[in-house]
Amino acid sequence: MTVEAEITDPGERELLDRVPTQLLLGDGWTDAAGGARFAVTDPATGAVLAEVADAQPEDGERALAAADAAQASWAATPPRERGEILRRAFELVTARAEEFALLMTLEMGKPLAESRGEVAYGAEFLRWFSEEAPRISGRFATAPDGKSRLVVLKAPVGPSLFITPWNFPLAMATRKVAPAIAAGCTMVLKPAALTPLTALLFADVLREAGLPDGVLTVIPTTRAGAVTGPLIRDPRLRKLSFTGSTEVGRRLIADSAEQVLRVSMELGGNAPFLVFDDANLAKAVDGAVLAKMRNGGEACVAANRFLVQRGIAAEFTRRFTERIGRFRIGRGTEDGTTMGPLVDGATRDKVAQLVDGAVADGARLALGGRRVDGAGYFYEPTVLADVPADATILGEEIFGPVAPIVVFDTEEEAIEIANSTPFGLVSFAFTSDLNRGLRLAERLDTGMFGLNAGVVSNPAAPFGGVKQSGLGREGGFEGIEEYLETRYVNIADPFGPEE
Ligand code: NAP
Repeated sequence: MTVEAEITDPGERELLDRVPTQLLLGDGWTDAAGGARFAVTDPATGAVLAEVADAQPEDGERALAAADAAQASWAATPPRERGEILRRAFELVTARAEEFALLMTLEMGKPLAESRGEVAYGAEFLRWFSEEAPRISGRFATAPDGKSRLVVLKAPVGPSLFITPWNFPLAMATRKVAPAIAAGCTMVLKPAALTPLTALLFADVLREAGLPDGVLTVIPTTRAGAVTGPLIRDPRLRKLSFTGSTEVGRRLIADSAEQVLRVSMELGGNAPFLVFDDANLAKAVDGAVLAKMRNGGEACVAANRFLVQRGIAAEFTRRFTERIGRFRIGRGTEDGTTMGPLVDGATRDKVAQLVDGAVADGARLALGGRRVDGAGYFYEPTVLADVPADATILGEEIFGPVAPIVVFDTEEEAIEIANSTPFGLVSFAFTSDLNRGLRLAERLDTGMFGLNAGVVSNPAAPFGGVKQSGLGREGGFEGIEEYLETRYVNIADPFGPEE
């Protein structure tokens, strides 16, 4: 993008002037070593939103030192107190929802209505884990031979490093930070370089909510590998939680082997969306639009392959294409915008290449298929019909507003196509046959399954994938376990002979 633009809206300017742009280290907001900074831009216009401190390896080292120093006292802080900090943070984020929504729209591009949805979703992790903090418990048992007593304890894992992506700048942070606070872990957060502002504002809110110094440090950087690599190899770090691409995640798992770090990995997806002849078609189309177009398709849970049974394929494609054609592209702050730009030029180039490749592979372009000229990284909402089962696009995570439709004949064939991927984050299916729904729930290789539902994310449910989509779960009762370790004490027989 070559167009240079400026922020002229007074409300946007005023918000941007208030957002912290320094690193958060153990003793508060600080410049990066050597004063390095980098620009954060609006993907809809190219305007520079802010210049943010660019953490260097020595800043990463300071962040980990702060997390290490704060760990013992933070772990000793009563669970109720940790929960109340989270509850206050939930109230503050909710009260300031409009600020967070606008900031996310500015740095990431999604329409304001979607940003508001993310604020509500992201804040809910703070509330959920505020309730989980005082419920951490262990157990007491009599050993099977009746002699000793077994006590099982839960302890915080310890200093944790979080690496988050740009597509959900608030929720991907709260999904990690909230359970870690509840469990009593200190944290170093490295947000995506494209969207660090939301994370910085969130950190400010946590301080206002009473989070002690050093418990959370935030280190935006343009040198992700150089800054986080030494931390991953440092014995003071005990846990790595990463959300991002499978490619980077795989490398981080390998690096984590050196210290045998606990790792949680929320990685890429390739979600199949199955529609059977017996589905309620109107509901299936509603679900399909939601599953594809939320976040402009830039979501790990976005439907990536539509598998539609032959009997309804033509009608589904007609209705779905009509609905996708109604999306209105624009800057996310403008009234009437229902789809923003893609996040950057590389993401748009990849989407364009995949669409061109699908057409070359034999797919029929039912809608869209072009970049939008002018400022911003816009790409038309696109539907590809009659996509051959071996087309390259079906094996790639599209991460854009592009829906490839494949026709199938039998349930067996649909399951085989759905499972023919190394990923297994989420699957969706629409059918009126509950027995079929249960069969699919058991046979699809997937961490999450939307049955007659186009959305699965819920703070009360375990989010995560199988196969190369990841390790561990975020949210639900499972989410806090990622930040706890199990210890056990054997107490000698209280009735045994005293000698
Ligand atoms: P990405 O390139 O893997 O980046 C994710 C994060 O990792 C960013 O903070 C990035 O920093 C950092 N990073 C990149 N290279 C690194 C390295 N060598 N060492 C340490 N950190 C490194 O992914 P993305 O393009 O931002 O996000 C899209 C991907 O995330 C998709 O595959 C999507 O499916 C996945 N995702 C998964 C979930 C889930 O819950 N399963 C949720 C959302 C997104 P920079 O910003 O500096 O590059």
